[in-house]
Amino acid sequence: MECISVFDMLKIGVGPSSSHTLGPWRAAEKFLAEVRAKNMMDNINRVKVDLYGSLSLTGKGHATDLAVMLGLSGADPEYIPVESIDVIISAIKNKNEIFLGNEIIIPFHVETDIVFNRNFLPFHANGLTFTAFTDSEEYTSTFYSIGGGFVVKENEDNQKSESKNAFPFPIDKATELLEYCQKENKKISEIVFENEKSMRSEEEIHNELLRIWDTMLECMYIGCHTEGTLPGGLNVRRRAYDMHKNLIGVLPYEDPHSWLQIIRQTEVKFRQILKWVSCFALSVNEVNASLGRVVTAPTNGSAGVIPAVLMYYMVIENHDANEEHIKQFLMVAGEIGSIFKKGATISAAMGGCQAEIGVSSAMAAGALCEMMGGTPEQVLMAAEIAMEHHLGLTCDPIGGLVQIPCIERNTMGAIKAINAAELALETDAKNAKVPLDKVVATMWETAKDMNSKYKETSEGGLAIGVGLADC
Ligand code: SF4
Repeated sequence: MECISVFDMLKIGVGPSSSHTLGPWRAAEKFLAEVRAKNMMDNINRVKVDLYGSLSLTGKGHATDLAVMLGLSGADPEYIPVESIDVIISAIKNKNEIFLGNEIIIPFHVETDIVFNRNFLPFHANGLTFTAFTDSEEYTSTFYSIGGGFVVKENEDNQKSESKNAFPFPIDKATELLEYCQKENKKISEIVFENEKSMRSEEEIHNELLRIWDTMLECMYIGCHTEGTLPGGLNVRRRAYDMHKNLIGVLPYEDPHSWLQIIRQTEVKFRQILKWVSCFALSVNEVNASLGRVVTAPTNGSAGVIPAVLMYYMVIENHDANEEHIKQFLMVAGEIGSIFKKGATISAAMGGCQAEIGVSSAMAAGALCEMMGGTPEQVLMAAEIAMEHHLGLTCDPIGGLVQIPCIERNTMGAIKAINAAELALETDAKNAKVPLDKVVATMWETAKDMNSKYKETSEGGLAIGVGLADC
């Protein structure tokens, strides 16, 4: 039984993709740690990166090549100022050299030192191999980016966290979570909090959850205040800017927090609610598509769903919502995401978009349901409903970019999450026909049956129906 923390499921990083950007970036960092441990660093005169499978097929559009260069440069995706990304990449390309691990400068030719191999490695669709050369030896290491920024090293995929038995309430399945809630007479968020406390102090949990929320809020704020066209060649016009302008009108604010307060004063009939929620989701994914800072939730492609639904709760449902509500929401969302990760996948290369938007929608639905007073049974039911209506959703990004259908799809995931929460709140959970664990298992079976054309390869669906030339 693997212990997955809320902070594993919700990670601060850089867009556009958790599996194709954040994961490879982290893999490069791990590789650097390995060569340092082998005392090779000072003698390295070349580094080569081989990308395989989906990382190769959609790697250009998902900025995998940039991610490995940034990782090899020693940059941290959580803290790097996003405006310095261009500077680092341009320097590598212009000088044909890289400042490896921020320690030594070696030659690096992007065209030949990053190799896009179309074949798939056996363990996972997202494989990448790093090779370091010295005058006398070479060292090779293979990693897999298994979704949501999680990375495993070849032949170590079954390694579990050392803290695996540290959780007082170890959870693999929704049924186990529910049993703990019933036995302890606790909400899901309270059970999750107990587990988190076994890993870090209450103060740390508090600060880190609020740091995640602040990052989400700032991301929505930036997205709603940035106009123009997204990079990548599809000429996708940012829509959050205009939508936000129409919704907010002339009301004054000066920063993300005063903005949030002001939104509470706007008119919110059904149409405006739909537009606000969509606007929040669009804003995050437009920032994500432009290599901005986002919270992986549980992936970057689906990063807009959870902030949009939490913001909906804060500005529309509960004007008194405070830090405690935010923490509660994120803890429930994280736990539901981890149940999907353990029982199925959060990798689009393994399960299509049901693994991204479907899971994020389920996470948001469950979290919202608890905030609105749902019982643990209803929370799990909300998550189940949200996923049930995403089963089979394919991943077919046009041009390999995390833009179409990805950005809009976050709005759909967010709205579905709200609907699922409301349905669950109006239902006696005893009458549920499909338990959450069944839908998790079904999602995994569906993932295995899905043709690889629809699993983040851009070889089917919209990706071939609509070409770059059409855009
Ligand atoms: S289609 Fe869905 S799974 Fe695929 S890249 Fe876009 S958001 Fe991610």
